[in-house]
Amino acid sequence: MLFRFRSLESRITALYSATFGLVMLLVAASLQWAIASNADHKVRSELTSSARVIDRIWSMRSQELDSVARPLALDFGFREAVATDDDATIRSALSNIAARIDLPNAFIVKYDGRVVGMRPDQDSPYDEELWDELDSGWHSGALRINGTTYQAVAAEIRAPALIGWLVLGRRIDAGEMKELSGLSAVPVTAAVVRRTEAGRWVYDQSDRPINDGGIVALLKRMKPAGQGEPADLSGRMAGNMVLARPLGSSDGVANTALLLNFSIADALAEYDPLRLAVVIAGLIGLIAVAFASTRVARRIVRPIVALEEAAKALERGERTSVPVVSKDEIGALTGSFNTMSAEIVSRENRIRHMAYHDALTDLPNRLQLREELDRRLAAIGQHGHALAVLCLDLDNFKMVNDTLGHRVGDQLLKLVAQRLVESAQGRFVARTGGDEFCLLVDGDGAEAERLAPALIETLAQPASVAGHFLRAGASIGIAEAPGDALDADDLVKHADLALHAAKAAGRGRHRRFTPDLDADANNRRAVEMDLHNAIARGEFELYFQPLFDLAKNRISAFEALIRWNHPQKGLVSPLDFIPIAEETGLIVPIGEWVLKEACRQAMTWPDDIRVAVNFSTVQFATSGIANLVFQTLANSGLAADRLEVEITESLFLEYSDSVREILHGLKQIGVRIALDDFGTGFSSLSYLRKFPFDKIKIDRSFIIELLNEAEASAVVKAITDLAAALDMETTAEGVEEPAQVEALRAHGCTTVQGYLFSKPVPAAEVQDLLEIKWERRVA
Ligand code: C2E
Ligand code: MG
Ligand code: MG
Repeated sequence: MLFRFRSLESRITALYSATFGLVMLLVAASLQWAIASNADHKVRSELTSSARVIDRIWSMRSQELDSVARPLALDFGFREAVATDDDATIRSALSNIAARIDLPNAFIVKYDGRVVGMRPDQDSPYDEELWDELDSGWHSGALRINGTTYQAVAAEIRAPALIGWLVLGRRIDAGEMKELSGLSAVPVTAAVVRRTEAGRWVYDQSDRPINDGGIVALLKRMKPAGQGEPADLSGRMAGNMVLARPLGSSDGVANTALLLNFSIADALAEYDPLRLAVVIAGLIGLIAVAFASTRVARRIVRPIVALEEAAKALERGERTSVPVVSKDEIGALTGSFNTMSAEIVSRENRIRHMAYHDALTDLPNRLQLREELDRRLAAIGQHGHALAVLCLDLDNFKMVNDTLGHRVGDQLLKLVAQRLVESAQGRFVARTGGDEFCLLVDGDGAEAERLAPALIETLAQPASVAGHFLRAGASIGIAEAPGDALDADDLVKHADLALHAAKAAGRGRHRRFTPDLDADANNRRAVEMDLHNAIARGEFELYFQPLFDLAKNRISAFEALIRWNHPQKGLVSPLDFIPIAEETGLIVPIGEWVLKEACRQAMTWPDDIRVAVNFSTVQFATSGIANLVFQTLANSGLAADRLEVEITESLFLEYSDSVREILHGLKQIGVRIALDDFGTGFSSLSYLRKFPFDKIKIDRSFIIELLNEAEASAVVKAITDLAAALDMETTAEGVEEPAQVEALRAHGCTTVQGYLFSKPVPAAEVQDLLEIKWERRVA
């Protein structure tokens, strides 16, 4: 199709209308064909029957003339009158006949060629041609006499030989023609035509030549009347149906004919109302179809257009729904679209929510915190306000997770999140990591500092979590913008540093960021760098602190404590570098060095003096720690039972099962195991039962309070009792006063260690310590 329909609506309308139009055209064409062939057939048969009627009339008239002419020609008196040329008798007889049958022309052609019996007013009929025709036997037909055509008959007059012919003729004129055409059932025009001597066909009345080639051809084909030809010479020419009938003839050639002419247009005119009705009905139908299909198309297309617009809106991320207007397929499609779009929107929301929220607590996550911080920092940059970031980390959360399982840990985190949100009073709270949370506090750091203790206190409220009675201890670090940092990363980093500082200071506290923390962090990085080379450069040294046996009143062992002789900083405490060494993994080679050096030194001591070596949790994470101990003992030659391995409870938290295996292996060859710093961390008595330690070292914090607080004394007593019951020794750490020694002895503690006896000393001084007579000091 040349013309393109852009819209579905116009396409549907055009298609329906075109189809209907085509059908209407076919109907009209076949109707037209039926009408035309019907009309043709009708006209043809009407003309044929008209011709037949006219034939009959013609022959009846001929017979009528015949019936007058024949008796007269046989009449004796008349024959005699003709034979004798008795004009008076002849004329009287002829006028007699003429009067009887209204005969315009009656005369006698004598055999000798004379014409007699003419009335004075009659045209002279004499004509040589007529005589020739009469002589050749013509007796009826059209006859032209002096320029006028007649229907005529001729009767022979014999006396007894042929003496002449009686000719009776009747004029064929316009009136006659009209009369003839009136006889037809269809409106025909009848005209008499004849052939002139020159052979041309002309209208008899007017001598007007016939120019229509079709009619001329038709006339040529015409056979003379009476030769048994049916009256079927008809043809269609120039919108007319024409039928030609020969009227008499001479020499076997029809020279005169009757032309019946019927206008087909006239016949068809009869059907005009029908055709008009069809055209009008078609037009009305077409308009109706166009209108109806437009409406149908609109009904189909409108929801589709609405759907398309909705789909575009959906693409732009807008929430859309299309009203369902029908119950058909389009309605179903619209319904499905609405469901789909709602699904997409809600899925998108879910995805967005997931991207910005923590799955467990549904709090904003680190990403959202980051964006929120950026936004607020930009705002404070413009308005000159302050903003504080408060980072919170749970103390000992790992223990909960490891001992009670992740399910309990998750529950605890949810509880913490809920409590934080409640206490935050609408402030922004995010979960940024496992047990880390961040709050944004409008205002400076002081405002956040006022909030921090309340948060710690709220979290510390004991709660039942999945059947366990738990407290969530927390530490908090605070940094403010613009004071401490201007961008989000630095601000959070600074709050984190403050948090670590708070933890290091002993958990359950909050701490504000100070620039020195940053310096500390930098320092840590520097330490880390230096540590890498410390072993190779021989910067480490072992100091030894004696453990005093209260029963034997003498030194029974020395604890090896590492010292770092830093080229610039001088002697560095293990508290300052061991955590860094642990974080970087450097503790593994350092620990190896310590073990070897401790064993080597111990070999120089008396056989009954043991050496205690501190092992870090991280060392246990590496495979082959047991092998290292075996080899070191073998290489140094130190008896296994002179080595005491000091470990802390955190070891059990991290790698419970594997640790137990390693410790059992060590214990089997005779190495002693001591639980260091007991009472600080989680002090779970279950460890004591799970693993048969040789010794429990009671942390210095209990010894400090021992003389002042009844509670501390009770705890120490409980530990020593429990240890005795489990067949374990006890060492009290950090003993500085003689009174403490007495109290510990009273509680049944087996060993003491502390500045009261000696600070850790270089290896060279160990011998001096062994030579001191201690009995006198502690008795
Ligand atoms: P620790 O194993 O509990 O060692 C005892 C710490 O208490 C030592 O500190 C010691 O000097 C100190 N101390 C002993 N008696 C007293 C006292 O009466 N008063 C006071 N105020 N302190 C006393 P040091 O040497 O600074 O070691 C600190 C910690 O570093 C050790 O605690 C130990 O956990 C760790 N450490 C030391 N050397 C090593 C080592 O070679 N390897 C590993 N993994 N850790 C080590
Ligand atoms: Mg120790
Ligand atoms: Mg200790």
